Amino acid sequence: MPSVQHPASSLQPLVLFGGTFDPVHRAHISAARAVSKVLGGAPVHLLPNAVPPHKPQPMADGEQRLAMLRLACQDYPELVVDDWELRQSGPSYSLNTLRHFRQQYSGRPLVFMIGADSFANLHHWHRWQDYTTLCHLAVVPRPDCELAADQVQAAFPESDAAQLMQHPSGLRLMLKRPFLDVSATAIRESLEQKGDCPELDPAVSAHIRRHHLYNATTLTPSTNHEAP
Ligand code: ATP
Repeated sequence: MPSVQHPASSLQPLVLFGGTFDPVHRAHISAARAVSKVLGGAPVHLLPNAVPPHKPQPMADGEQRLAMLRLACQDYPELVVDDWELRQSGPSYSLNTLRHFRQQYSGRPLVFMIGADSFANLHHWHRWQDYTTLCHLAVVPRPDCELAADQVQAAFPESDAAQLMQHPSGLRLMLKRPFLDVSATAIRESLEQKGDCPELDPAVSAHIRRHHLYNATTLTPSTNHEAP
C-alpha cells in the first residue's frame, strides 16, 4: 500500500503578526496581505499584545485595539484577528506566543512576520535564538531601518517562499514590498492635531472619533470642508 500523502493544505504555513496596533494602519494591513499572498494565501493571525515588552504601554486598551483590527480586517478573509496575547498575563513575549502556536501545529510551517525595524532589534529580544526552532521569519521593508545584527542574519538564512513552505522553521523571507513610510506614532500625532489621518481605514477613523480615542481633535463639519 502506498503511504498516505498529506494534502498540500495540511502544510499551508500559518503566519503570526504581533504588534501593538495602536492603532492598526495601512502598512500593517498591506504587509499582512503581501505575506499571505507570497505564501499561497496562508492565514495571517494579527495578535495585539497586552503588555509590550519593548515599548511604552499602548494608549488604547486591548478591547479598542481589537475592535479597530476587526474593522480593518473585515474585507480580507486571509487576515484573522486573534486575542491570544491579550488573554495572557505578564509581558507579551513573542517567544511564548510562538511556543503556544508551535505546540498547536507541530510540523506546520510557522512564519513570524516583522517589520525591518523589529528585525534590526531582534538581537535584543528575549531568547531570540530559540526562535530558529520555532518559526521562520518574514521581514517587511520599512524606510530608514538599520540592517539586522550579523548573528541574527546568520541564524536565519535567507530563502524563498517555496523553501519556507517545505520546512517548519529556521529560514528567512525578505519581502521587497510594501515599502510604506507609515507609523502608528505619526498617526497618533496627526489625530491629535488634525482629527484624522489618511493612513487609517475609514471604518477605523470613524471608530476612533466615535470613542474619542487618541485625544483626536473633533473637527466641526464647517472646518472639515474649509478651503485651504
Ligand atoms: P509605533 O509607531 O507605535 O511604534 P508601529 O507603526 O511601528 O507603531 P506596531 O504595532 O508597533 O506599529 O508594529 C507591529 C509590527 O508591524 C512590527 O513588526 C513593525 O515592525 C511592523 N510595522 C509597522 N509599521 C510598518 C511599516 N510601515 N512597514 C513595515 N512594517 C511595519
